[in-house]
Amino acid sequence: MSAVPSVSVRNLTVAYNKGRTLALDNLNLDIRDGEFCVFLGPSGCGKTTALLCIAGLLVPTSGSIKIGDQVVISDDKKTFVRPQERNIAMVFQEYALYPSMTVRGNMAFALENKKYPREEIDRKVNSIANMLGIEQLLDRKPAQLSGGQRQRVALGRALVRDPSLFLLDEPLGNLDAKLREQVRFELKRIQRQLGVTTIYVTHDQTEAMTLADRIVLMKDGKVMQQGSPKDLYNRPINTFVAGFVGTPKINFLECGVTAKENRPYFNFGRSSLPGSPSLKAKLSGKACVIGIRPSDFALADMSDPEAIKGTVELIEPMGDEILVHFMVENHLLVGKFDAADEDRVCERVAVKVDPEKLHVFDGKTGDRIA
Ligand code: ATP
Repeated sequence: MSAVPSVSVRNLTVAYNKGRTLALDNLNLDIRDGEFCVFLGPSGCGKTTALLCIAGLLVPTSGSIKIGDQVVISDDKKTFVRPQERNIAMVFQEYALYPSMTVRGNMAFALENKKYPREEIDRKVNSIANMLGIEQLLDRKPAQLSGGQRQRVALGRALVRDPSLFLLDEPLGNLDAKLREQVRFELKRIQRQLGVTTIYVTHDQTEAMTLADRIVLMKDGKVMQQGSPKDLYNRPINTFVAGFVGTPKINFLECGVTAKENRPYFNFGRSSLPGSPSLKAKLSGKACVIGIRPSDFALADMSDPEAIKGTVELIEPMGDEILVHFMVENHLLVGKFDAADEDRVCERVAVKVDPEKLHVFDGKTGDRIA
């Protein structure tokens, strides 16, 4: 495998319609050697645009990109390294295999063009096919394969080229849920094994959470937050990040704040939740939005005066867990509990939240109050 480079993006901006549409708005990021980085965000947030700039298929309006030690596009555009000279492999959702060639032919094509010795081509194709579990399909043509098998061939065709950077744009989008999970697992395993720096574009937060070493969460051409899946889940910097990451979705409640003794209380309707004493000084007189992850609700007794009480609307069994949808003060909330505790959930339910687990955001700006 070639040396795996890092990627640095500085002030990258892509403007369309005479500057009226900013597909990328001053994007800055650093991806480490061998890292699995996922660009995540809603449709139109600029993920593909960023990927195309890194691949060299799109020239940005301004900004620079460095891959390893090499500047591939400079701010003044005097330096531009062409896509074919960047040693990058790309896989898109719409992968196009050559229909008249076998799987082996498809995978070997780029290496044959580069005049690699036959023995080396065979060794590389067999080794990658083995990793992807498609070695028994090497003599078939694409039409004789399932969608998932074809997708694995497309990944294999990109991987045999020994890329120093692997770019994937929603590569699992065409697969059904089960296959998607399987190919996802294989992709992660192979990426680890080869140590190739990878950028993966998706709008699917589950995919991002399971694959990424680092997630770059984008909105309107800007990075909202970047960090490990754990960082984004445990310390979202605003309500957008909190709402985008995590399934089922985080519960939001608009609250007023009062202080009692040494701690703040978050009030909504006639209900109230105690907050962390460490936040008291930062919250006085503020309107807040609090975020509660469904798994952070704990079942409590109906007689507990500190618990909030709600009317159960629906219980969804999930195997060893249950999702309980309940209504408190006109807010529909969802909690995730151990299925063994289902007996404690009747028409009414009482829940508490560890004050340290509450996510507290400014009611006006949506920014985290930490
Ligand atoms: P998706 O998940 O839907 O693929 P994305 O996050 O990859 O979305 P991009 O394809 O990068 O988004 O597009 C970012 C923005 O730039 C969008 O608002 C899109 O409409 C706009 N855009 C992209 N290409 C062009 C173009 N050639 N001309 C004008 N606007 C464009």
